[in-house]
Amino acid sequence: MSRGKSEAVRIYSGGRVWSPGRSGAGAGAGAGAAAADGWPIRALAEQGGRIVALGALAELQQQYSNAECIDLCGRLITPGFIDCHTHVVYAGDRSAEIERRLAGERYEDIARSGGGILSTVAATRTATVAELVQLALPRVAALLAEGVTTIEVKSGYGLELDTEIRMLQAARELGVQRRVNISSTYLGAHALPPDYRGNADAYVERVCKEFLPAIAAGGWARNFDAYCDAHAFSAAQVEKLFTAARALGMRVKLHADQLSNQGGAVLAARFEALSADHLEFTDEAGVAAMARSGSVAVLLPAAYYFLRQTQLPPIAALRRAGVPMAVATDCNPGTSPVVSILAAMNFAALEFGLSVEECLDGVTRQAARALGLQQECGSIAPGYWCDLAVWNVTHPAELVLSLGHHPLHARLWRGQPDRALV
Ligand SMILES: [Zn+2]
Repeated sequence: MSRGKSEAVRIYSGGRVWSPGRSGAGAGAGAGAAAADGWPIRALAEQGGRIVALGALAELQQQYSNAECIDLCGRLITPGFIDCHTHVVYAGDRSAEIERRLAGERYEDIARSGGGILSTVAATRTATVAELVQLALPRVAALLAEGVTTIEVKSGYGLELDTEIRMLQAARELGVQRRVNISSTYLGAHALPPDYRGNADAYVERVCKEFLPAIAAGGWARNFDAYCDAHAFSAAQVEKLFTAARALGMRVKLHADQLSNQGGAVLAARFEALSADHLEFTDEAGVAAMARSGSVAVLLPAAYYFLRQTQLPPIAALRRAGVPMAVATDCNPGTSPVVSILAAMNFAALEFGLSVEECLDGVTRQAARALGLQQECGSIAPGYWCDLAVWNVTHPAELVLSLGHHPLHARLWRGQPDRALV
C-alpha cells in the first residue's frame, strides 16, 4: 500500500468525549443522567479515516511521533450522528395534505383517497436522478448541519423498478456529492401502486420474482423494507417478501405496528430483522420477540407528533426487555417533514420519555446497529470510522433538550473536519 497523504496520522485531543456505553448509563438504564464530562480527557489517533488508537495524549504522541496534533479546546465530542430511517429522496409537495389533516381528516383516509404516499409516487415517477438529487441536497445539508455523518435512505416512491432504481441512484449520488455515508434500503412494499389496486398479491409476487432480484443483482441496496399495516401490506404478504429478500442475502427492516397492531414486530423478529420501526401499537408479544431476535426498535417520534397520535410505543416494556432503541427523523414529505435529528431526539425525550443518554445512544450506537453498521460507526473506538461531531455545548443534555439552536461546531467525516476546528 502506498504511504500517501491519507496515511498521515492526526491526533485529536482536549475534547470532552461522550461515546455510548461509556458513562455507565447506557441503553436500558432508564433515566440515568448523561455524564457531563464524558471520559477523562483523552486523545484519539486517526489514520486513513479510521480511529486507530485511544489513549493519553503523551502516549499517542510517543507512538505516532510525526502526527499532526489538533486541540479540540474542551468542546464536547460525540460520534457523528446516524439518521437510521429517512425518505429524503422524493419529489412533490404534500403540504396541502397536512392542511387537510389539520382540518380533521385522518391520514388513513387521505391515503385511501390517493393522497399520502401515492401522491409522492406520482411526482417521483416523473423526476430524473439529477432532479431527485437536487431536491434531496438541502434536506441532507440540514442533517449534516446537526452532526449527522451517516444517513439511511429508503426508496419506495416508485413502486416500479425504474423509479426505485433512480431513487437508489440518487441516494448513492448524495454520498458522492456530500461528505456523508449513505446506507440505501429498497422499500419495495411501501404502498400498493395504483395500477395494482385490488391486486396486492400480484404486486407482492412481482416484487419477489422480478424487482428484488434486480435490486440485489445491481447492488442497489443492502437492506429491504416493507410497510405492514391495515392500509398497507398484510403480515402474510410481508412474510413472502421477507422470505424472498433473505434468500437474496438482504437484511430486512419493517415499518411495523404504526397505526394498528398487525403483529409486525413479531414478524420482523422472526426474520431477524435489523429493526422494526414505529411500533406505536406493538404489544408484549412483539416486544418479547424483538428482545429474542436482537432487532432494534427504531422510534420515530416526529411522525408520532405530525400524525398527532396518542398511542405511545411501549417504551417501558422495550426498556425492561432490553430491546435496543434507536431514534430517527423518518424525514418524509407527508407524515414527518422533519430534517432535524436534534428535534427527533427532543421529541423522543419529551413525547416518549427517553432519557438524554437513551436519545444519544439512539442516534449513535443503536442507530448503527439498526443499519447493520455497528462494527463501522456509532462509537468512538479503534477500528471505527473517525466520524465525529464537535459541539459548542457544555452538557450533552443541551443537544436533546434545546430546540432551534445551532450547537454544532464542526463535523469530522472519515477523519477530515468540515472546517477549521480552532
Ligand atoms: Zn418511514
